[in-house]
Amino acid sequence: MENATQRLDGVEARIAAAAGRAGRKADTVTLIAVSKTHPAEAIRPLIAAGQRHFGENRVQEAASKWPALRTETPDITLHLIGQLQSNKADEAVALFDAIHSVDRSSLVQALARACAKADKRPQLFVQVNIGNEAQKGGCTVADLPALLAEAADAGLTIDGLMAIPPADVAPTPYFALLDELAERHGLSLRSMGMSGDYESAVMLGATHVRVGTALFGAR
Ligand SMILES: *Cc1c(COP(=O)(O)O)cnc(C)c1O
Repeated sequence: MENATQRLDGVEARIAAAAGRAGRKADTVTLIAVSKTHPAEAIRPLIAAGQRHFGENRVQEAASKWPALRTETPDITLHLIGQLQSNKADEAVALFDAIHSVDRSSLVQALARACAKADKRPQLFVQVNIGNEAQKGGCTVADLPALLAEAADAGLTIDGLMAIPPADVAPTPYFALLDELAERHGLSLRSMGMSGDYESAVMLGATHVRVGTALFGAR
């Protein structure tokens, strides 16, 4: 079994190679280490190896793990990559530097209030249900323009788009579509790609890849 430094080096090298193949610089891609379900003891070796961006999918779990880890290492950037209930918007804005799961009107309004109250502006991504799957979070492709307009009206700056393509089919057409939607709406960030497909996501424009298993092992 490789250690944390070796796994991190390996993923970073693959990101750099994929970026290079697409004529992009490696530092235009942010690697988010998805630490959900993993305890602090599993996270510390990656921090020691130099990793600074981490992703969690639940507010409660993040609140129980990260304040202590951040006291040890203050320059951590924490990303919320899972669905967010509107009644947890205040807590999410307090805890996270970036929220990747803005996906509906009620949440836009709750986040606008929470950001104003806390005088904080986390980086925000609208999650798009890129494969129009019944069970999945994210706004539909058709609803995206209206949701972006509503965010702007509410005074929220949206920085990019996030998607989780359908499982068991090639993800590349979905990555290309997310890139095109972001381009069309003048958004600079694209959060796409996980352990199984982050290299193709980088080749198709990902600025943020969310990698769990390849860094931490199986959950
Ligand atoms: C868990 C999770 C990931 C990481 O998945 P891996 O396959 O372990 O890399 C990425 N994005 C989201 C939204 C997740 O929930």
